[in-house]
Amino acid sequence: MVLADLGARLRGALSSVESGSDEEINQMIKDICSALLESDVNIKLVVKLRDNIKLKIKSDLSTSGNNMNEKRKKLQKIIYDELCGLVDSHEEPPKPTKLSVNSSKTSGHTVTKIINGKKVKVTANKNNVKESSYVIMFVGLQGSGKTTSCTKLAVYYKKRGFKVGLVCADTFRAGAFDQLKQNAIKASIPYFGSYLEQDPVKIANEGVEKFKQEKFDIIIVDTSGRHRQEQQLFNEMIQISEMIAPSQTIMVMDGSIGQAAESQAKAFKESANFGSIILTKMDGHAKGGGAISAVAITKTPIIFIGTGEHVNDFEIFKPSTFISKLLG
Ligand code: GDP
Repeated sequence: MVLADLGARLRGALSSVESGSDEEINQMIKDICSALLESDVNIKLVVKLRDNIKLKIKSDLSTSGNNMNEKRKKLQKIIYDELCGLVDSHEEPPKPTKLSVNSSKTSGHTVTKIINGKKVKVTANKNNVKESSYVIMFVGLQGSGKTTSCTKLAVYYKKRGFKVGLVCADTFRAGAFDQLKQNAIKASIPYFGSYLEQDPVKIANEGVEKFKQEKFDIIIVDTSGRHRQEQQLFNEMIQISEMIAPSQTIMVMDGSIGQAAESQAKAFKESANFGSIILTKMDGHAKGGGAISAVAITKTPIIFIGTGEHVNDFEIFKPSTFISKLLG
């Protein structure tokens, strides 16, 4: 079941409660659970959600008397809260700091800060000096939407006044550099890559070092995805990560992959220890439930969702907004 249908089913289940009888409420819980299962949400998570809903109904609904309006509002709130809990990792995703400084490392010197997109000279102290660029490494399977999402994220930060550079460290897929280059040129983002160099670790390092020297605020590194989860892919990711020491690693996951999301997320988590997730292709016929389970299982926040192929088809992910939209 795709996300749009899931929303309709959840709304239908909620509105089917008319008299507030135990039978109706039990049927509503059943309907919600089967809709989630049909959307590929992990069964253990659904069982936990069902138990939580039952417990809350028992404690919260008993105080409403026979007022049906009040009962319905409470029911909606219980379902909404539990669904939010399902997509909320309760972890704060790391955030880049918006600060460019000159090369001096002593306190009391003048640094250039970017505030609201404007360069402003300020006197630095040990607390506000950020001496190094914020490096973001992207990982994920081939075709998941990594290269597209790298550009989307670069544009997102560029619009907010950051100086952003893109590095292509995918030497496995022919055409990977061309793709990143074309995206980068279209979006006017500086880029780095090579047609000749075969060693992705070397390219990643050269790109990061170049942009660091040029005082970029954020450096985004795209890595190879290959087709399947192969040991070689994971070894390469580890080597690149050790070399460039990213400030943040983001896993890109195709929102439509269903139950396979869980094992994929676990495998990547073990090797790359990503700190956040971008879910792509949430526009089309994505079930989304598999990927949502992966989030709950790896306890990693989704930070953005991709909603199309265009560079602006990119939304900040907030559990409450996502569930509100789903419930209409
Ligand atoms: P990579 O191999 O992981 O780098 O994947 P790409 O960035 O090349 O994306 C693979 C395909 O998915 C391309 O055709 C992209 O245009 C498409 N794509 C990426 N993100 C999205 C998205 O959010 N929605 C849709 N509909 N397509 C996307």
